[in-house]
Amino acid sequence: MMENRTLQGRVIVVTGASGGIGAATCRRLRDDGATVYEFDLGPAAGGFQLSVNVADAQSVDQAMAEVHAREGRIDGVVAGAGIVEDNVPAEEMSSEEFSRILSVNLFGVFHTITSAGRYMLAQGHGSCVAISSMSGNHTVNTPQKQCAYNASKAGVSALVRSLAAEWAGRGVRVNAVAPGYIETELLAKKKHQFAQWLAHTPQGRMGSPADVGAAIAFLLREESGYFCGSELLMDGGYTLI
Ligand code: NAD
Repeated sequence: MMENRTLQGRVIVVTGASGGIGAATCRRLRDDGATVYEFDLGPAAGGFQLSVNVADAQSVDQAMAEVHAREGRIDGVVAGAGIVEDNVPAEEMSSEEFSRILSVNLFGVFHTITSAGRYMLAQGHGSCVAISSMSGNHTVNTPQKQCAYNASKAGVSALVRSLAAEWAGRGVRVNAVAPGYIETELLAKKKHQFAQWLAHTPQGRMGSPADVGAAIAFLLREESGYFCGSELLMDGGYTLI
């Protein structure tokens, strides 16, 4: 039988859906035929948009249960919600600030993927994609100081590998995309550093949210079925030099 090379008929949840990468990903997944549920902070807009705080397990579980009650299945999940501290030297970083970043970037991914994963394991199939970062295991960003963000993203990579190994035999895949610099609101306070980053990027450009959405769509599709605990680094070559 031919594998399905689209996402036609798939039910997929995306967190951080109102953000730059999240919104582009939702557009791409809909273009590929999926029914997409958007989780983000802010008031519930109804329909396919649900108000969710990924740092709060109960909030994620409630929204995931609502999607499952409506659709009877959850085929894919994208854990994309994320935040970054604004250039805080490690020696000045408070425990509260460190914890705030991890509560969204690491606990949020844990809550999101395990919440969707429970439905996927019960139905015997599913594909989960986390958005980690080149800042996790591939480089230490410079000149900005962001030890909490970098640690959270390294945690996401390890979490993805662990869940992938635990669930692989039960039909559920877990993978990650690790983007380099992508021009979104997340980097709004760092525009003065763009020139420095680009000078270190062999392609000489930042990535677009649509570039990331395309990689995520690939990992959600059946044709990526042998990817298990992988992290697709996409950085315009930044970490090569
Ligand atoms: P963004 O700021 O445009 O979007 C982030 C979204 O996450 C926002 O809509 C925000 O409301 C949402 N969010 C934040 N906290 C939340 C919470 N507690 N619960 C639910 N939603 C929450 O940023 P982006 O660049 O689109 O980032 C998306 C993901 O990609 C993040 O995980 C980020 O770390 C990662 N990433 C971004 C870049 C980049 O250069 N922009 C590079 C590597 C990885």
